[in-house]
Amino acid sequence: MALRPDEFYDHAVAVADSERRLPLARMTGWDISPFEPDGLRVAPLRPPVLPEPPRHGEDPSDCNACRDRDEGIWFNDHWRLVRIAGVGVPLVLMLHPRDHYDMADLPDELAAELGLLSTRIVRHMQALPHVARAHVYRFGDGGAHLHVWFFARPEGQAQLYGSWLVVWDDLLPEYPAEVAEADAEVVADALVASHGGHRSPTGEPAA
Ligand SMILES: [Zn+2]
Repeated sequence: MALRPDEFYDHAVAVADSERRLPLARMTGWDISPFEPDGLRVAPLRPPVLPEPPRHGEDPSDCNACRDRDEGIWFNDHWRLVRIAGVGVPLVLMLHPRDHYDMADLPDELAAELGLLSTRIVRHMQALPHVARAHVYRFGDGGAHLHVWFFARPEGQAQLYGSWLVVWDDLLPEYPAEVAEADAEVVADALVASHGGHRSPTGEPAA
């Protein structure tokens, strides 16, 4: 039987201390962890919140991703790609459907295109100089409108491997914006060549 929310909480705090702090384990013990275990402690585990609060944009009429459907560096009829500014890794891009869908209600045709687009975006990001790998994330706890993250890992920074990358990104100083902007344009142009679509929201040349 699956654990109910209260049972899951009881199951977890059974191994926590008197302040409901879980022990440090696994990822914090990896040698690529951004944090050394000494002096590090886990936040107290909070009880479940039920029902869960609504996410941003549950109502499409109040959804920023729908409002911004014409903003980005690459577009086709169904998708748009955006560069996220102010990050520490060389490049972070975000892919959104232009219409209001979450991942679980994406029509099959768009779901199939998401596979192709994700593969091509990764390929074009990894073709950039000094980008070793592009990682793909989909969370969706903050916004109801599907948004898929693409994070570029800088070449040679083997300490930034894997799932800690987003935390390292938050710790690093901002990567030079003019370099990231130029790299994003290279990816967008390569995507026009490999997948079609265009650099402006309507397909008209930019004024
Ligand atoms: Zn939306």
